[in-house]
Amino acid sequence: MILNIGSLNIDHVYQVDTLVRPGETVTSSRYTKGAGGKGLNQSIAAARAGAEVAHAGCIGEDGESLRQTLQHAGVDVTRIDQVTSPTGHAIIQIDREGRNCIVVYSGANHGLQPETVTGWLDGLGPKDTLLLQHEVNEPERWVRLGREKGMRVLLNPAPAAGCVPRSTLEALDALIVNEVEAAELSRTSMPHEALDRLTAWAPKADIIVTLGAAGCIWGRGNQRSTHYAPKVKAIDTTAAGDTFVGYWVAATAMGHTNAAAIEWAIQAAALCVQRVGAAAAIPAIPAPTP
Ligand code: ADP
Repeated sequence: MILNIGSLNIDHVYQVDTLVRPGETVTSSRYTKGAGGKGLNQSIAAARAGAEVAHAGCIGEDGESLRQTLQHAGVDVTRIDQVTSPTGHAIIQIDREGRNCIVVYSGANHGLQPETVTGWLDGLGPKDTLLLQHEVNEPERWVRLGREKGMRVLLNPAPAAGCVPRSTLEALDALIVNEVEAAELSRTSMPHEALDRLTAWAPKADIIVTLGAAGCIWGRGNQRSTHYAPKVKAIDTTAAGDTFVGYWVAATAMGHTNAAAIEWAIQAAALCVQRVGAAAAIPAIPAPTP
């Protein structure tokens, strides 16, 4: 099983001509409200890929619709707790080019307690995968707890990689980052150089640096590969990375090779960027034939 300890957000999405600049007011031509949060999106992506997924996280009273969204997608929601703080939410602007600009309020996503997380991990072990992002509090601590249980641990340190301790990197089975996060973590803006540094720091882990429309690069120890994304017309890149992560973790948890998992993740993410929205834009596509 995949246990995803991750954020649950309500997304407020505004279509604008140009992204708002400091001191400026812009009018939005279209507003939609939907389910989002990197955690929730990745659980939905993994479930749409066909994996057995449980989501763990916290919502406020105003977040019950998020639990329902996950349940409808086939995700186990028994580890989602209602707490007194408000549900996390995001204010998202999308411009004519499909570029986005996002403000996130963490709310209940930052209220995770060690006793609660320990309870969520009860009964899980080496056959299970723990997936984490950086939209909950203390993700490194939950990496350690997963490791202690012998789980396979995957970290997507998004939206900000900041300073992930080397000890955390060493403990990972897989790390997926976009170009910005790769640069933050490795202190170099050259993706191939970043991959070299990250594979040196986490020699046992699969490391993937996603490169937007250019696809991604993968490394493990001294091995390297490059994977190209299909050429498509992107209208909204929200949740592209989440789709990629969810499909990759699902594919590898279901026993696909890394190369097949990347291929599937790239196809799913390419469909996602051609649709508007976060969770709603995540496609369900069959596994590629090996
Ligand atoms: P994030 O969404 O986390 O910033 P990226 O922008 O690197 O991450 O996108 C993640 C993945 O989504 C890419 O590796 C690629 O497979 C796919 N993707 C993103 N943008 C496009 C695009 N314009 N065309 C095709 N695929 C895309």
